[in-house]
Amino acid sequence: MKKLVFATNNTHKLDEIRAVLANDIEIISLAELNCFDDIPETGNTLEENALIKAKYINDKFGLDCFADDTGLEVDALGGEPGVFSARYAGENQNSQKNIKKLLWNLKDKNNRSARFRTVIAYIENENMLYFEGVIAGEIISETRGTSGFGYDPVFVPKGYSQTFAELGADEKNRISHRALAVKKLAEYLQSQRL
Ligand code: IMP
Repeated sequence: MKKLVFATNNTHKLDEIRAVLANDIEIISLAELNCFDDIPETGNTLEENALIKAKYINDKFGLDCFADDTGLEVDALGGEPGVFSARYAGENQNSQKNIKKLLWNLKDKNNRSARFRTVIAYIENENMLYFEGVIAGEIISETRGTSGFGYDPVFVPKGYSQTFAELGADEKNRISHRALAVKKLAEYLQSQRL
């Protein structure tokens, strides 16, 4: 069976991709490689950061590898927080503070449109490929719901009236930016095996 490293130790992300890939491909986490390095995310774009992580592992272990990076892009803020989504309110901040800053910056804005964008960088032998997943929606002006993480309590996907945090994991994982990017990677991997 083909083995691939997913450059993450986020168990939620590992479960998600293992569910999509079913039994076709074995996904190995960084913990399973005994790798607990803090890989610096110094890129200025999601693409750069995803590639930095995938390349770091590919260089170190010589294994086919992919990595992801996600950002929330808000139109009225010129695409912010984008690649800085995790540390929007500063280094060592939490989701609550990031959301607070986001709502403050949007308080006078009528245009609330935004999107989550995930980029997966995949290094296979000498090849490098990107897969992207996008979900459009709106930022509401208060938090609603308790499931999920990050900006989920303020993001209402297009066509829905509930936030990601109200929709719950099953529905979110069916339609999310990350699920879309993962499905594209899975389709590519499966097409290579035909
Ligand atoms: P990462 O690249 O997946 O670590 O995501 C970077 C940051 O984007 C996270 O720390 C969250 O603040 C935000 N983010 C990523 N994915 C989601 C999501 O599915 N819901 C809400 N926020 C997210």
